[in-house]
Amino acid sequence: MISEKLKDLIINEDCNAYFNEPMSLHTSFRIGGKTDCFCEINTMQSLKKIIAQCREDGTEYFIIGLGSNLLVSDEGIEGIVIKLGGEFEEISFEDDDTIRCGAGVSLAKMCLFAKNKGLGGAEFAWGIPGSVGGAVFMNAGAYGGEMKDIVVSSHYLDEDGNIGEMVGAAHEFSYRHSIYCDRKFTIIDVSVKLSPKSKNEIFYLMQDTMDKRKKKQPLNRPSAGSVFKRPENGFAAAIIEECGLKGVSVGDAQVSEKHSGFIVNNGKAKAEDVKALIRKVQETVKEKTGIELECEVRFVGR
Ligand SMILES: Cc1cc2nc3c(=O)[nH]c(=O)nc-3n(C[C@H](O)[C@H](O)[C@H](O)COP(=O)(O)OP(=O)(O)OC[C@H]3O[C@@H](n4cnc5c(N)ncnc54)[C@H](O)[C@@H]3O)c2cc1C
Repeated sequence: MISEKLKDLIINEDCNAYFNEPMSLHTSFRIGGKTDCFCEINTMQSLKKIIAQCREDGTEYFIIGLGSNLLVSDEGIEGIVIKLGGEFEEISFEDDDTIRCGAGVSLAKMCLFAKNKGLGGAEFAWGIPGSVGGAVFMNAGAYGGEMKDIVVSSHYLDEDGNIGEMVGAAHEFSYRHSIYCDRKFTIIDVSVKLSPKSKNEIFYLMQDTMDKRKKKQPLNRPSAGSVFKRPENGFAAAIIEECGLKGVSVGDAQVSEKHSGFIVNNGKAKAEDVKALIRKVQETVKEKTGIELECEVRFVGR
């Protein structure tokens, strides 16, 4: 429920708000029921005011990045879904080789900015379809690199409206995890340290990364990337394939024929279909190999 006071604030603050908005429009899976309000907030001042009002009203709020690692319930998300736009999409220099990215900056924009300034180290992130905030939250990584390698610090807003800073090891980065997974903080910006490299070298590394993705991943279908975390001994995709699950489907949700670690939406898949398919994969893999596959995709919503 959104109180009249909160609604009024949302309408008058610097944000773009959509009431009763289908979350399927904001997730890479193209799945998810309605949220009471989807609100793209453009300034720190507005973010603080809206979160403070949510807290006063007891209204739930959920911070979304680019929705590329989420399975949103068919019943949608209660309260407000907040996306960081405007000033949170800016990049600036902190010093010669350290750039500060607003949490709403896409990884694609960060990578291109770094390449154009002749700064290397972020190439691994080229092709990960998330935001900088979401990537820090998840410690996103690929092809031998991860956010942990380049993040020096980040600022966040806590639930009480205080701004804090996380530096280095305080992020508690581990495989697809950061301290932000265990706190209800809004990441507002992130500083990443890169190093001088020729633009040509950066370009070819980025291109190589993208070629590998195109070759191996079903990028022509909606998905949330790899559904499962890498188990200790081996790769989820290979294990799933060995268990005969490649191509298996529930409704319009299918274990990708191209990459068995992905579940794709062939058109009208529901969150319930994806969940049932995930359970089927986990149960079969457990039965046949004893391995317990853990989800990387995050379930949110009612
Ligand atoms: C085709 C495809 C390929 C992919 N390849 C990879 C890959 O190679 N490596 C990899 O690691 N991942 C990969 N992913 C998964 C996904 O892109 C990453 O996990 C990405 O980091 C998620 O970022 P996001 O902005 O979309 O976050 P979202 O999916 O929107 O959110 C993820 C989590 O982060 C939280 N969050 C987001 N922004 C903030 C913020 N500002 N403050 C606080 N919390 C926040 C959300 O609340 C949520 O819990 C892939 C996904 C797809 C669809």
